[in-house]
Amino acid sequence: MKKMISMLLVLLLLAGLGACAFADETAKETGAILDGRWLCADIQGNVTENTPAVLKDNFGLYVNKEWILQAEIPDGETSAGAMEDVIRTLKDRQIALLKDESLTGHDAELVHKLYALVSDWDYRNAQGVEPAMPIMEAIRNIDSLEALTAYLYDRNNLKRYYPLVMAVSTDFINPDIYITQIGTPGLMLQDSAEYKERTQAGELYFALFEQLGTYMLQRLGLSAEESARVIENAFAFDALLAEHIKPVATHYQADYFASLLNYYSPEELEALAGNFPILDMLQAYGLKAGQSFMVTEPDYIAALPELYTEENVPLMRDWMTLKAALSVADSLDKETSKQTEAISNAIMGVSGETSEDDNALSSVLGLLSVPMDNLYIQAYCTEQQRQDILDIIEDVVACYRTMLESVDWLGDETRAKAIEKLDNLRVNAVYPDELGDWSALDFAGIEDGGSLLAANAAVQDYVIALQSDKIDTAVDKDKWDQLMMQTAQVNAFYNPQNNSINIMAGILSGEIYNEDMSYEQKLGGIGTVIGHEISHAFDTNGSQFDKDGAMANWWTDEDYAAFQARAAKLAAWYDGFIPWEGANYSGQQVQTEAIADMGGIKCLLAIAAQQEDFDYDAFFRQFATIWRTQALPAYLIALAAQDTHPMRYMRINATLAQFDDFVDFYGITEGDGMYLAPEARVAVW
Ligand SMILES: [Zn+2]
Repeated sequence: MKKMISMLLVLLLLAGLGACAFADETAKETGAILDGRWLCADIQGNVTENTPAVLKDNFGLYVNKEWILQAEIPDGETSAGAMEDVIRTLKDRQIALLKDESLTGHDAELVHKLYALVSDWDYRNAQGVEPAMPIMEAIRNIDSLEALTAYLYDRNNLKRYYPLVMAVSTDFINPDIYITQIGTPGLMLQDSAEYKERTQAGELYFALFEQLGTYMLQRLGLSAEESARVIENAFAFDALLAEHIKPVATHYQADYFASLLNYYSPEELEALAGNFPILDMLQAYGLKAGQSFMVTEPDYIAALPELYTEENVPLMRDWMTLKAALSVADSLDKETSKQTEAISNAIMGVSGETSEDDNALSSVLGLLSVPMDNLYIQAYCTEQQRQDILDIIEDVVACYRTMLESVDWLGDETRAKAIEKLDNLRVNAVYPDELGDWSALDFAGIEDGGSLLAANAAVQDYVIALQSDKIDTAVDKDKWDQLMMQTAQVNAFYNPQNNSINIMAGILSGEIYNEDMSYEQKLGGIGTVIGHEISHAFDTNGSQFDKDGAMANWWTDEDYAAFQARAAKLAAWYDGFIPWEGANYSGQQVQTEAIADMGGIKCLLAIAAQQEDFDYDAFFRQFATIWRTQALPAYLIALAAQDTHPMRYMRINATLAQFDDFVDFYGITEGDGMYLAPEARVAVW
């Protein structure tokens, strides 16, 4: 299911919502802007030869116009850009690993065995849809609450269709131990608010589940009539669940993390869940009962007994049937795979097809991320690269310290705590010292008559067992857990739960970082990424966690109020962006990332100020280059509905416009598009 859902998510983001995304014709011709700020250059078609691109008015467009005019969105993709190029490089390298027969060792054996199962269409076609039939049959035979409970207790079921999510993670209050979190299930329309009032995004998800569901159910032997009833019941049950699940908008509120801290002993959890067999289900899933559970939404768990009734059995059975049918779509024969891709593409308006290699890679990564990671590290990571990144991190941390020392709105008490937090920052740069050990995993390959679904089940059991072993044990904060944090991904992030910044090997290519860049370019690329990540320690989320990763308040009331007021000013300013007509841009949604963008640049500018003959032009241009993009309009509409990052043209212009160093270097003054009066600026740090 993980892969299917992620595929649905990706497809949504690749999407074709159609209407109203383009700037109007006048805007295109004159560069006039909808929000009094900057033309959204990210949308394909918004920038033409005639669009003015003046450095002092729209720096991002000035730097990237030439690239934008020749950019092409590849077949099967929804966007092009500097980040997309880095992703492409990573995928090409990983595909080469899939095909490299000379690789040896257990990781390579697992990867090649799975790759053969994925890519041998003759073998898959001969199996047809048969591997899925026992799974479907077990669910279709459920005809009473007793049978439903027996199914959920069965260790051999797919373990994926419980109306809740069970996961092992670091405890929020005591980050030294692992705890089981009980969360709400993923909804088909992604957000409970969609069940009250459906938006464009909700319509799109509905179409996906309905059309893919109809195809898959019939492919797996249900009649047209049965399929229609299953889908209707599945959505009816989803809607019942949604009534008790908080809308996604609440996740961006200031008290969100605090609202998750609900601890229950096993006995208390059992009492909360009433007749819903939560502890037995947990055991059947493969997780041992720990001393305590963190329940993210207790009201939801408390509502389960009224949903888990004899009367609702047909609804829940059909809800599980639909989810099961969708989850196996990628693991069967070629016809199923091609048809489901075609249905998704038609709904989303995606042109072209994803290549077989890309599809195979995504299947292998979905199951064997750690063995793949190990192969990538051995093939592509170097100590030189890591040292280079560590050096930049050291410079950035030093400047961050100076910055915290000089911030004028922090009192001494909070300032000391902030600096202490920075001094305790953990750094995970590029790749772990010790590779993840998956030597105990095995599954049947083609020679042994294996199937993709059987491999999938074996990996899932293996991963759940790894997770279960952690419960109630001490967290090794120095260990780089590749299962949670793959090295080979185009990403970097801050983890508030161990106060660490994590710079992944996969991001180190193209315009972000390469060994041949000048120092200024490196700072404008990977340097600003590192600065951004450290800033997350001090954004509205990170600021709620202390130097050891515990959720704890280290602020004086006065300083926290000042911090929140600054963050609110920033959010209100972003509310005013209108990237396309009718857009309802949410500042609260992008608040943490915008704070981090600005904090990062401020810090990098402090480094620049210490250098002799620093090439500011190269630095600012590189920063604008890494965020260049051209994307399908509908993709951006769907993306903006859920992305916590500001749109890329904002990441360039809105960020740089906050700083005197930028404004003064280019002689930008009042009346220029890139000019923001000091009192209108919103950088929190
Ligand atoms: Zn970020």
